[in-house]
Amino acid sequence: MLDATALQIGFDNSFARSLEGFYVPWKADEVRAPELLKLNLGLAEELGIDVAALQADLKTAAEIFSGNVAPEGSSPLAQVYAGHQFGHFSEQLGDGRALLLGEVVDVNGQRRDVQLKGSGRTPFSRGGDGKAPLGPVLREYLIGEAMHGLGIPTTRALAAVATGEPVMRETPLPGAVLTRVAASHIRVGTFQFFAARRETEKVQQLADYVIARHYPELSKEELPYLAFFDAVANAQAALIARWMQVGFIHGVMNTDNMTISGETIDYGPCAFMDAYVPGTVFSSIDEGGRYAYANQPLIAQWNLTRFAECLLEIAHPEEEEAMRLLIDSVKTFPEIYLGHWLSGMRAKIGLLTEEEGDLDLVNTLLSAMAEQGADYTLVFRKLSSAVEAGSDDAAVLALFEDPVAFEHWLGLWRTRLAREDIAPEARASAMDVVNPIYIPRNHKVEEALSAAVNDDDLAPFEKLLDVFQSPFTEVAGLEAYGEPAPKTAAPYRTFCGT
Ligand code: AMP
Ligand code: MG
Repeated sequence: MLDATALQIGFDNSFARSLEGFYVPWKADEVRAPELLKLNLGLAEELGIDVAALQADLKTAAEIFSGNVAPEGSSPLAQVYAGHQFGHFSEQLGDGRALLLGEVVDVNGQRRDVQLKGSGRTPFSRGGDGKAPLGPVLREYLIGEAMHGLGIPTTRALAAVATGEPVMRETPLPGAVLTRVAASHIRVGTFQFFAARRETEKVQQLADYVIARHYPELSKEELPYLAFFDAVANAQAALIARWMQVGFIHGVMNTDNMTISGETIDYGPCAFMDAYVPGTVFSSIDEGGRYAYANQPLIAQWNLTRFAECLLEIAHPEEEEAMRLLIDSVKTFPEIYLGHWLSGMRAKIGLLTEEEGDLDLVNTLLSAMAEQGADYTLVFRKLSSAVEAGSDDAAVLALFEDPVAFEHWLGLWRTRLAREDIAPEARASAMDVVNPIYIPRNHKVEEALSAAVNDDDLAPFEKLLDVFQSPFTEVAGLEAYGEPAPKTAAPYRTFCGT
């Protein structure tokens, strides 16, 4: 007999309590033979879950994290939302393959959502089967943990369970369920659902809930909903700047995939870029390149404009004034983004102070990299050994087939560095803690997923997870994880498919 109550998860479900009408209570599908593939023990501890009890009864854990058994205190529900997908508005999306189990206040006092993904059909499934194949589940697990290791706000994986059932895609694939932890799953699209139906009191109720949960300091503002907009825009500006700084391409920046909390969410066709090519698109369904690497800040602003539209009736007592204020706020996004981006880029090239010419300096480097398709991650990483003239710049120079433009830049850079008073070693160390050596290289991710899906071999997946825990510390023996993919004839392609 399974004793689901033995595993205590301290649920406290404020969304279910406060937002009736924003969800449908629902149940996960039962699966045949759940098998626990991976548990995130560190995260479980953070959530205050009794890890020893969990490990002592892995069968119960598999039952819970597959959705077969609803843990005590949970109140499983499917959230409703809408969203602009590739620019086109869908008035009803919602959790079509996910189920919010509830919330846990973690050991740091942070309220976190615990959600199953791939747990079966819901009233919002439309045509889909509500299931998830193993490959994309492990992919979301890996990339989320890698982002976390890089210090980028993200949802995280708590568990991955194989269901023992096939999922029908083009061919039958092994099925799985991911347990995902998020600051919340409230999206721009959640607001859009109610705004599109002109349910202003619900928009306000949702805004009040989210302000209390994510931005409590704003409730005292004179125009709290305007301040709320600005806070979300700022969180997104900071987030996208971080993506750009590590070469991350989300791939589906639809408004339903943009969180209000400022966490990265929904790792579908996302991937990291090797060669610095600003127009890079990996997703097979992004035919027009809408969500290309270089477009991400622009798309963030587009999405935030959709968010601003949702707040028109509450941002100010007079709608015209609300419109004017929100437009002004939206217009400041590029500047706010640039501020976040440039301060991160300054750190990447080892600058401690701010000078007017820094933006040009960074852009000159990026141009030289783009011209040569130099490896984005490695150029920044190897730069720290070239801090001093006459130091070891062979490693970074080798990343350029024709280093002329880059050598010119090195001269400009060193002249700029000379105006700062810091020991070269200290500068180099400061650079190494912001420029990762290990990112999820596409070929390594594919290798790990293929071993797991085709050969039941989780060792490469485990190894990658391990490497991504400390992406800034170079470790002897891990050279293969720091290398770009071998050149192939066809460009790398990703597919949605979760
Ligand atoms: P996503 O790809 O996660 O951004 O999902 C976009 C929308 O499609 C959401 O409403 C999902 O719930 C829905 N969806 C995606 N895949 C499935 C699936 N396999 N079954 C049911 N709904 C799905
Ligand atoms: Mg989504």
